Amino acid sequence: MTELHGQPVHAPGNSEQPAHEGPGQEGPGQEQPYDLVVTGVRLVSGDGVVAGGLAVSSGRIACLLGPRERPPARRTLDGGGRHLLPGLIDSHVHFRTPGLTHKEDWAHAGRAAVAGGVTTVIDMPNTLPPLHTAEEAHRKAELLAGTTLVDHRFHLGVTGDDPSPLRSVGPREATSVKVFLAGHHTAPDVVRDPAQLEKVFRTAAEAGLRLLLHAEDDAVFGLLDSWRGAPAGYGGYERHRPRSGGIVAVARVVELVRRHGTAVHVLHVSSAEEADLLTAAAHTGLPVTFEVTPHHLSFTATETSRTGARARLSPALRDRSDRERLWQAVVGGEVATLGSDHAPHTRAEKLRPPAEAPPGLPGVQEMLTAVHTGLRRRAPEDSPDAQLSCLARLLAERPAGLFGLDERKGRLRPGLDADFVLFDADERWMLAPGAIQSKCGWSAYEGWTMTGRVLRTVRRGETVYSHADGQAEFGSPDGRWLDARRPGDLVPR
Ligand SMILES: [Zn+2]
Repeated sequence: MTELHGQPVHAPGNSEQPAHEGPGQEGPGQEQPYDLVVTGVRLVSGDGVVAGGLAVSSGRIACLLGPRERPPARRTLDGGGRHLLPGLIDSHVHFRTPGLTHKEDWAHAGRAAVAGGVTTVIDMPNTLPPLHTAEEAHRKAELLAGTTLVDHRFHLGVTGDDPSPLRSVGPREATSVKVFLAGHHTAPDVVRDPAQLEKVFRTAAEAGLRLLLHAEDDAVFGLLDSWRGAPAGYGGYERHRPRSGGIVAVARVVELVRRHGTAVHVLHVSSAEEADLLTAAAHTGLPVTFEVTPHHLSFTATETSRTGARARLSPALRDRSDRERLWQAVVGGEVATLGSDHAPHTRAEKLRPPAEAPPGLPGVQEMLTAVHTGLRRRAPEDSPDAQLSCLARLLAERPAGLFGLDERKGRLRPGLDADFVLFDADERWMLAPGAIQSKCGWSAYEGWTMTGRVLRTVRRGETVYSHADGQAEFGSPDGRWLDARRPGDLVPR
């Protein structure tokens, strides 16, 4: 039996292959066999797709291979002509540790991540207590050691009254800081005061940190609430948290970037107007990028009326024309990253009355296949190669660049970590409740017919997820806290 780190190696379709071993095999002149050789795949990068394979030594990609190369290896994996994507980076997750582990924990969320092809996550700071300092980042990393499958980094949080801890943060701990401009159930540190916000922007610029913005304006929402009150049902939710909150906040953020030169990444952009403003700001040369989530690409406000709390989100889901504008931004390259905004709550919390049900949904497991399904539905005649190339850019290369991980993660390139995803772009399947890995146990995509499926996820050369005949298998929870370098302000497209 051929073993791949304790798990049987078999290609999809069950064509199990023996390992090539010993001297005398054809190979690129190396004496020791590689740890793992992957053959028969279509290698995906942001620049395109080529047929070939790759070899792994000591957890890193040793070299890329041509379609007919079969160097000596301890273990082999035949991809059967399917696509091999770089391990994905989800730069927007809420894995809820510490303090909110009744909603989610890193054991469950790590399985959800690798089942969705995600090998690296960057976790948000709004836990209990929130993550504010370099020392707290070290303590959190110790707490997570040995508990999760997924490699990880953290975004720090900040309070408006004292942003000074940001001055002592080095790239080891964080390269990015999350700022909430509007509050909700799990957002403890909202910066409402304009003078304080100014100070946060100035401090981050001086410390070389990128600000990640939840850019909705709390005062706009407060004004509307004082007039109209909370909605009685989910049908009124979008009007209760409308696009005006996002548009006002984005305009303020752009002005602050102009004054201070702070690099910003605006999260979960939901409306056409925000996408236009941010694209225009980037076009003038300001260090402004933005993220779109799978749920804003998959659903509209109608979904909130129909399914209620599951699709109650912050920012809210908007109209069809907004969704179309966001797709345009994804396909046209205006969007820098896709982030799942994986933010689980228990069923009981979601079943509270509309005004009290917390916003958020799980998404790290569903992200790749949901966005791939959307791309195929919108443009079935387009080449799967081009669509997967777009996903490699937005889910691996650009987040690696923005967050200083590009020397280790984000591409199928010699020297980088051997993180990759064997993906069947044509398989159609339904997301059943039993397949959901998040601790919360539900998904807004339950019952969806998906196009494209993760068959195997390899992280640092080890299989951490494989799927065959309806069975999921997982590796051991040895995900690492990653180091990073200080990224440049702008990442070239
Ligand atoms: Zn979030």
